[in-house]
Amino acid sequence: MDLKNKRVLVVGLGKSGISAAMFLRRQGARVTVSDARSAVALAKEIPALLDAGIMVESGGHGLLTFRRQDLIVISPGVPLDTPEVKQVIGYGMPVIGELELASRFLNGRVVAITGSNGKTTTTTLIGKILKEAGLPTLVGGNIGTPVIDLVAESTGESIDILEVSSFQLETIEQFRPWIAVVLNITPDHLDRHGSFENYAAMKERITENQQAEDFLVLNAEDKSTQMVAAKTKAQIFWFSPRRPIKQGAFVHGESIVFVPREGAKAEPIMPVAEIPLKGSHNVENVLAAICAARLAGAPAEKIRASVRSFKAVEHRLEFVGTVQGVEYFNDSKATNVDAAMKAVSSFPSGIHLILGGKDKDSDYTLLGPLLRERVKAVYTIGSAAEKIERELHGVVKMVGAGTIDVAVHEASKAAVPGDVVLLAPACSSFDQFENYEHRGRTFRQIVSELS
Ligand code: ADP
Repeated sequence: MDLKNKRVLVVGLGKSGISAAMFLRRQGARVTVSDARSAVALAKEIPALLDAGIMVESGGHGLLTFRRQDLIVISPGVPLDTPEVKQVIGYGMPVIGELELASRFLNGRVVAITGSNGKTTTTTLIGKILKEAGLPTLVGGNIGTPVIDLVAESTGESIDILEVSSFQLETIEQFRPWIAVVLNITPDHLDRHGSFENYAAMKERITENQQAEDFLVLNAEDKSTQMVAAKTKAQIFWFSPRRPIKQGAFVHGESIVFVPREGAKAEPIMPVAEIPLKGSHNVENVLAAICAARLAGAPAEKIRASVRSFKAVEHRLEFVGTVQGVEYFNDSKATNVDAAMKAVSSFPSGIHLILGGKDKDSDYTLLGPLLRERVKAVYTIGSAAEKIERELHGVVKMVGAGTIDVAVHEASKAAVPGDVVLLAPACSSFDQFENYEHRGRTFRQIVSELS
């Protein structure tokens, strides 16, 4: 892709947008960036962009700015139905995301992980296993380092491990992972994708350019993920915590085994009991990581040691501490209903659950049966509180806490030794916090002041 003297517009100045703009500039493109935020809100970002010779449009998008381009690179946070974007797509102008742009310049072999939940955990674990197996490994994408920032280090030898979201997959064209992993597809972001079918269709795109020599790792226990099998040319490796698999990874008795091809002998990998993470969902993440790591060339005997020493990623069912016999867990990253259900399923009973935040058109009634079985009380916070209280009315005791501070204090008063106070809010955080990390840190801080 020759970018020299091409007019390129980057829409959205998040972390990946800024990296993309700088990269394009280094490639010799004539770059403009456009963001809906005001110049004041972007005061930190603008000087470095101007210094690099990049033009900046802030406080909204001008249709003329959009029309003058050869290429538009759109950030995952900007919906494709933004009027200016919709219009230029209508004219046939190429509109791609940072993932697509970067993938045209990556020299390594790509392992891409998607799914509604578990992406960061699984991506981090695959990175750890491959690195400890001595393979040249890069990790990036939705997980923190923009993919475009990996380009400089990506060589013919490297394995480039990318966490990819549905938003990033929405704007691919040729992106073709060597190994693709789909962990699960459960409702999330319905406010943005419109329907579950649209959302699932975006996730499926991870395999649309894969060929017969590529690999696709799929969850055998997740209905929507199973459907992806019909859409691929790649070789499928399944994983299941429940039943034997002809090709892939599964739990056999007390142990995880891997079958490298149909009819081959199963290789023992490790006892399930050695997985140092809570919750059956993490067994699924480990199974998926084992498939990807074996396919990428990590020896079976190395994998066991790497998994054993893996620690939960911050804000993912993270143990915060014990105060007066009550355990506190921070799962601030449980930003959708399925993740919250997985968190609740990780404890047998005695749970005080903090729910709420910004709603994403989610259906909270799905939580009903599980809450009835295991949860003593729900403490609602944020703008979704009223909807949650309405949808879960009569299921368990509800405390309208409003803020996380009140929620933790009320829960700590009600909890008895042996109980668990769990932040697994099933919502995003933007109504009261900067992001889920801020929400998780606030929770930890309040808990530390309890003791
Ligand atoms: P993602 O990057 O997809 O958001 P994370 O690893 O950050 O995934 O985990 C997000 C949330 O989902 C956390 O609350 C975590 O406890 C939960 N979770 C992790 N793995 C799974 C899984 N396989 N299925 C369902 N929930 C999961």
